[in-house]
Amino acid sequence: MDIKKIYEDANALLEGHFKLSSGNHSQFYLQSAKVLENPKTAKLLADELAKEIKSSGIDIDTVCSPALGGVIAGFVLATALDKRSIFTERVQGEMTLRRGFEIKKGERVLICEDIITTGGSALEAANVIESLGGEVVGFAALANRGFCKREGSDTKAKPNCKLPKNKPFFALADFSFEIYTPDECPMCKEGSEAVKPGSRGN
Ligand code: ZN
Repeated sequence: MDIKKIYEDANALLEGHFKLSSGNHSQFYLQSAKVLENPKTAKLLADELAKEIKSSGIDIDTVCSPALGGVIAGFVLATALDKRSIFTERVQGEMTLRRGFEIKKGERVLICEDIITTGGSALEAANVIESLGGEVVGFAALANRGFCKREGSDTKAKPNCKLPKNKPFFALADFSFEIYTPDECPMCKEGSEAVKPGSRGN
């Protein structure tokens, strides 16, 4: 499966001059919502990811996603795995489990995101599950930004990866591209202004 082509065809791999949520700048941005707006494509990706997870042999009861970005990816993955689908969400900045969702003691939970960059939100969701007595058995995402090491990839995790090293991380592909601090951004040096993805129609 050529996931890069799927992202390109869905106009989900944006090229420009972007200001990321971390404050850093990048020439590229992945807009996974654009890939998932087509339910058939979403199913195709989830089936492929589910195949990889099943073949690893890990036992899962539930898929949990951090809202908002991970919710659709988590739901389609849970559908493909035939497991329960829940999500955590931020309340005044703090990740929580709401809406009547419950975790049983020892329930085996896979945390699913659309994209893992450093894995910060995924780790917060995992901490919520574990604080409620669940067991986080692994992490999954459609795409990996190349800071964390996914199963089957020979690239190494970078120091800013927040995912625990002792748990598997499944993703369909690595999308590694440079990020720059504003001071060293070559596009800023050329005089262009970074835009926040999601603004100006992207
Ligand atoms: Zn810049």
